[in-house]
Amino acid sequence: MAAIFAAEGPAPVVVLERTADGGRKILISGGGRCNILPSAVAPERFVTDSPAHLLRGMLRSWPLAEQRRFFEDAVGIPLALEPETGKLFPQSNRARDVRDGLVALARRRNVRFQFGVTVAALGHGTRGWRVDTSAGAIHASRVILATGGLSVPPTGSDGTGLRIAAGLGHDLHDTYPALTPLTASSAPAFLSGLSLPVRLRAKWKGRTTESHGGFLFTHLGYSGPAVLDISHVCARSLMDGCGQGRASVRVCWTDTPAAEWESRLRGRDGSVLGALSRTLPERLSEFLMAQAGVPRDRRTSSLTRPERLALIERLTAYDLPWTGHEGYKKAEVTGGGIALDEVDPRTLQSRRHPGLYLCGEMLDAFGPIGGHNFAWAWATGRAAGRAAATQFG
Ligand SMILES: Cc1cc2nc3c(=O)[nH]c(=O)nc-3n(C[C@H](O)[C@H](O)[C@H](O)COP(=O)(O)OP(=O)(O)OC[C@H]3O[C@@H](n4cnc5c(N)ncnc54)[C@H](O)[C@@H]3O)c2cc1C
Repeated sequence: MAAIFAAEGPAPVVVLERTADGGRKILISGGGRCNILPSAVAPERFVTDSPAHLLRGMLRSWPLAEQRRFFEDAVGIPLALEPETGKLFPQSNRARDVRDGLVALARRRNVRFQFGVTVAALGHGTRGWRVDTSAGAIHASRVILATGGLSVPPTGSDGTGLRIAAGLGHDLHDTYPALTPLTASSAPAFLSGLSLPVRLRAKWKGRTTESHGGFLFTHLGYSGPAVLDISHVCARSLMDGCGQGRASVRVCWTDTPAAEWESRLRGRDGSVLGALSRTLPERLSEFLMAQAGVPRDRRTSSLTRPERLALIERLTAYDLPWTGHEGYKKAEVTGGGIALDEVDPRTLQSRRHPGLYLCGEMLDAFGPIGGHNFAWAWATGRAAGRAAATQFG
């Protein structure tokens, strides 16, 4: 996106890309369908350790309606809304169309691609910047770093760009995996594969982060959008030297409030398992009863008060045991990164090095599941590209 907009200026634009084809995260995004944008931006759901107003300004610099029009008209990819999730996908449901469409548009604008070329270092040269690559040195009057974070390294992002930016004196906030599955040493194998919509509350350092949506039991622990959206809280609580204890995660398995469960479990006589299984998968009902110490064949009429209270707590605020997370190997994004006040929020130009622009996931911001992270990458990439084009001297 940065190259497409940089090409609006008079200077020739070259993309240096270490993989053989680029855009590999686009290819694997949204389960191969590419959730290209959300239907509404939610700046308040983004996470950053930088000033929030900077994040909001950068995100809103390219309004969603205009982003959508760009993809439909300029790239030529009609989008479709998935009403139940509010996510936008290409109508074709093929992520490849998005990646190929962007590369094709860049080529139409005379951007030159050098694939299989790794950038190793960046320094001031005689004519602006000297870019040291695996294919030799290149000189450029402007450089846009858009090397991503540390997530899913086989897609090409291994943190080299972050190291280059730090080496040039930029302030980096600690990085951590975000939108990554959680692990649990005691994950109940018989629940693996089960999924259901839930509400989650992660608590750490006195702050509560909430999410809702799909929850999936995996063979290693838990995944699904609701889990991914709070996973950064767990990841951060495990970071070295933090000393603030581990985050707690509580699950409310249904929309049924505690008072309603109370009346259901005290109402007409019947099996407790039956009462739970009308709302929850039976396997999970059995599991929660066992966790609450309620025998499988218990009837509501013989449920003791402590049993009922223990069960209602497991149903509405289950203390989810977790031990870790699946790390950058599975993380959809990287939390932390280059502090947002290291760049001019309108141009994304480095405040330390004129002629250097920083955009995308390498910046200290990420959003929830739902197309928000591409919205961030598109908006900041466009701003950096446009500024690099117009500030060409
Ligand atoms: C499995 C998965 C699914 C996802 N699904 C979605 C989704 O559906 N919707 C959504 O909004 N977001 C999704 N995301 C997040 C989204 O992909 C990222 O937020 C986005 O790709 C970040 O864009 P970026 O250009 O900043 O970085 P990247 O996409 O990581 O691109 C960085 C590029 O720089 C190249 N590079 C890195 N270092 C060098 C170097 N030293 N030399 C040369 N080239 C280099 C890399 O090869 C790569 O091509 C998903 C992520 C993953 C991992």
